[in-house]
Amino acid sequence: MNMAFNPFEMAKEQFDKVADYLNLDEATRDFLRNPEKEYSFAIPIKMDDGTAKVFRGFRVQHNNALGPAKGGIRFHPEETIDTIRAIAMWMTWKCAVVDIPLGGGNGGVICDPHNLSMREQESICRGWIRQMAKNLGPLQDVPAPDIMTNAQHMLWMLDEFEKIHGKKQPGLITGKPVGLGGSLGRNEAAGYGLIFTAREGLKKIGLRINETSASFQGFGYVAQSAVQLYNLLGGKVICVSCWDQKDNCSYAYRKKEGIDPKQLQKITDKFGGVNKTKAVELGYEVLNGDEWIDQEVDILFPCALENQIHINNVSQINPRVKMIAEGANGPTTPEADNIIKERNIFLIPDFLANAGGVSCSYFEQVQNNMNFYWEKEEVLAKLDVKMTSAFNAVYKLAQKKNMFMRDAAYVIAINRVVQACRERGWI
Ligand code: GLU
Repeated sequence: MNMAFNPFEMAKEQFDKVADYLNLDEATRDFLRNPEKEYSFAIPIKMDDGTAKVFRGFRVQHNNALGPAKGGIRFHPEETIDTIRAIAMWMTWKCAVVDIPLGGGNGGVICDPHNLSMREQESICRGWIRQMAKNLGPLQDVPAPDIMTNAQHMLWMLDEFEKIHGKKQPGLITGKPVGLGGSLGRNEAAGYGLIFTAREGLKKIGLRINETSASFQGFGYVAQSAVQLYNLLGGKVICVSCWDQKDNCSYAYRKKEGIDPKQLQKITDKFGGVNKTKAVELGYEVLNGDEWIDQEVDILFPCALENQIHINNVSQINPRVKMIAEGANGPTTPEADNIIKERNIFLIPDFLANAGGVSCSYFEQVQNNMNFYWEKEEVLAKLDVKMTSAFNAVYKLAQKKNMFMRDAAYVIAINRVVQACRERGWI
């Protein structure tokens, strides 16, 4: 990780640029460029070997003008409060751009689940909830999965919360297991949402999806379902890169004739790590992880972490690339944005492109409130409508004002949040 890079500074820089354009007053800027509330706390747990260990947990609630704070909980060994602040802020814009009645939040724990038993992970989840129990709730702040957390973690968290409060509250958390308050389609939602926006984008730039090829960074839950749908629509994925826990570096796996997503999934662990030995046996070329970016493809899908396309590697993007659709939060820095703009590569910005996960979280809460659950097709059809209309609104503004797609998405999102703050009489 690049220690000089600070995602929160980047989120503020992106915001400031659009705040200038919108001519926002000082108080509004001050309110929106900082989180409303943040929590930092210790989570002491008993390890399996009988020793005690203290983990650090965080939650940031950036804004709740449009509704309860909403956003994931990350488990990552290099987690920082500034990453969580940035993502909490991006969550505010994400919910606003797809027009769902939710605010923005994010949380995390500094830990590496690769090195923790299931029981230790359960203790961390329950400890996180005990520290946050008074400040969460279906009408207050609603967590969800994010990097290295999943439905099982969400269920342990929900269970602890329900024990503390003495009643069932399924709307407390989203991304729950199906059958226990989870929504069908939630697993696919982030990846499918990404491909719905890419499909719309390709129409606008005059490309047929079944004649395109792509390279993905990451093979976690976002990328896996994105690869699956993209492939189903006729797209060819040539390269997928991911982190290798054993070798402590990343590799890119390439098959020029196109990868088989099901086959690759079978040799991938639950954290999105591909088994290198098995990949070689299956005929994949193994390249340096950074090489996902210079592949000769039409579309790049960064679906891993923040700060992955930056000033030092943006020039490596192959001349053939016509579109970047961002599955990760904050993968591209503002300096790299300038080059992407100059090169006329069509960019679908993160908080629009990856809003499928939170849109489905919203559908999950709606189903929890009704206590009536939809079929998967119904969920995914609703998701398609949501993502397509959000994409079209951003595209229309970008065309009308001759704006970069990221800036147009920011204008729509910030305007919605500012208006809600004003109408509530806050600023
Ligand atoms: N972690 C996901 C995101 O960054 C989902 C958040 C949610 O569903 O609340 O969009």
